[in-house]
Amino acid sequence: MAYVFAAPGQPVVPVVGSTDLYPVHRVYCVGRNYAEHAREMGHSEREAPFFFAKPADAVLAVAEGTVGRLAYPDRTAALHHEVELVVALGGAARDIGAAQSAATIWGYAVGVDLTRRDRQAEMKKQGRPWEIGKSFDRSAPLSPIRPLRLSGLVERGRIWLDVNGVRRQEDDVGAMIWSVNEIIAHLSGYFDLVPGDLIYTGTPAGVGALEAGDRLRCGVDGVGTLALEIGPADAPR
Ligand code: MN
Repeated sequence: MAYVFAAPGQPVVPVVGSTDLYPVHRVYCVGRNYAEHAREMGHSEREAPFFFAKPADAVLAVAEGTVGRLAYPDRTAALHHEVELVVALGGAARDIGAAQSAATIWGYAVGVDLTRRDRQAEMKKQGRPWEIGKSFDRSAPLSPIRPLRLSGLVERGRIWLDVNGVRRQEDDVGAMIWSVNEIIAHLSGYFDLVPGDLIYTGTPAGVGALEAGDRLRCGVDGVGTLALEIGPADAPR
């Protein structure tokens, strides 16, 4: 049997200390998972975790020691950065408890949940889905994945983001409202989780706008760093 056209390529992410690649299945993202960020977005109560998704091919994998480059996206005047600890699953899970969740973790990476904040705000106001604000092409830059066998469980560690050398975001991943294990357990109640699933676990306070020409550097202690440069918008098609 042949495909009617060439099948889309498998999105992949480099692995620290290996030439093997991690194949991406789905990309789940947690909203408002640090108290200070929840407050800056106008929310104060601890609420059940909530999720949105990005397509697997929204991942922009940035090789170690290189700078990821992406054009300023179309149809926004408020491209925002959100640095996040990303969990890469290596095991399947369906409706598991938090105590079983750690066994599904394959590794960790540093990601940026790029957001068209203006479009997201409009969609929120109208009660519409967030895809145009959150799930656009190249909206999920990602560092190489550090396998669990090298990192150990990441339950604490500084998470930070600089734009043009100026610190914008800094906290500790131990300050998450919902822990990685609680997030995996909760998600597994709604989706069949499988190896290849990535989870962006939410961002600390300090989200803000990026401009063409900005250089961004971010990291999570014990996991890695990620460097990006925002280019001018693509020429109109
Ligand atoms: Mn986010």
